[in-house]
Amino acid sequence: MAVISYKCPNCDGELVFSPATQNFKCEYCMSTFSREELEAMKQDLAAEEPEAVAGQTGEQAKGPQSEPAGAQEEKPVDGGQAEPGREAESAPGASGSREGQAEQEEAVAYTCPSCGAQIVTDGTTAATFCYYCHNPVVLSGRLSGAYLPDKVIPFAIDKKQATQKFLDYVHSKKFIPRAFFRKQQIEKLSGVYFPYWVYACTMDGTMDAQGTNIRVWRSGETEYTETKYYQVEREGTVELSDLTKNALKEANQKLAEGVLPYDLAKMEEFHMGYLSGFLAQRRDVEREELAPEVSQEVKEYGRQLLRDTISGYSGVTVNSCNLKTAEESWSYVLLPVWTLTYKARNGKFYYYSMNGQTGKVYGELPVDYKKVGIVGGIVALLIWILFLIGGLLI
Ligand SMILES: [Zn+2]
Ligand SMILES: [Zn+2]
Repeated sequence: MAVISYKCPNCDGELVFSPATQNFKCEYCMSTFSREELEAMKQDLAAEEPEAVAGQTGEQAKGPQSEPAGAQEEKPVDGGQAEPGREAESAPGASGSREGQAEQEEAVAYTCPSCGAQIVTDGTTAATFCYYCHNPVVLSGRLSGAYLPDKVIPFAIDKKQATQKFLDYVHSKKFIPRAFFRKQQIEKLSGVYFPYWVYACTMDGTMDAQGTNIRVWRSGETEYTETKYYQVEREGTVELSDLTKNALKEANQKLAEGVLPYDLAKMEEFHMGYLSGFLAQRRDVEREELAPEVSQEVKEYGRQLLRDTISGYSGVTVNSCNLKTAEESWSYVLLPVWTLTYKARNGKFYYYSMNGQTGKVYGELPVDYKKVGIVGGIVALLIWILFLIGGLLI
């Protein structure tokens, strides 16, 4: 498994992704590079140093000063052998005991390509900073094989803007302890790519219902009531997309879902370089675990959509509703979140997070318990074909 540190070809400084320009910037000489240029550098290296990129096992990591964009091998903490194929093996379907074992083994130390210090990470970390020299490192092996994301939304809001938005937010709230927005605290504001599953499906649905209309009138001394019964049938195709689910167990669920929704139309093909200068986590929730809940949720939406097309009656009783999934797709994506955690004196944790694309804030702040409502992940909801079969007066 390789550690990638993107280095500037002009001065050997670190290259980080810049949300403002959507390019890659050297923080020392201020050169900027496009994604294509970054890719080309990596390929050059691959041609020169095939062994380093392939990540030979059991070999000690090379010395601290390596070549630009140097890739180095991981070194397991327990001193065991690191097998390149192991990551994929612990993917969906692995047995419980093996998963436990894999998780333990995944807590590995990497050698920082800049200073040679050890970077110890947990099993889901995919991009981080060297604790000693603050060099950004991308643990590319963590996002390979079954864990290679399909798409990513790169950060659009940089740290400066994120800090300003955070300050605007806390200043608009009352009774927040000063400690919450002390300088040292604000510096902990981190840009993290969190893993999510995005689900889309097409369902064929039918609904049978009975509609009633009642008319009351009076003629002389007699009151008449007329009840008309209608058999109502609906048949249609429901297309549903962008149902977004958090794919990290340890993430504060509210934090990860409170920042939804994202404009998923702006997703990009995944590229490791986007992670440089940020933190990133890979998923530890598989889609199989989410499938029952997702299936239930989409059927409820589908039913509601069909029901909403029945109007013009004073009463409606649904007799039956059938929804069959015709097509479905799951995408594994990394989405940008700015986040800050605060531990209050009473030991309680407070979370602040902000959508790194739209700036939408989700906060659970000291004293102010009002929560920003969680908006579900469903963004687009369309009925493609809908036609009335019945509506007949019985
Ligand atoms: Zn430079
Ligand atoms: Zn370092």
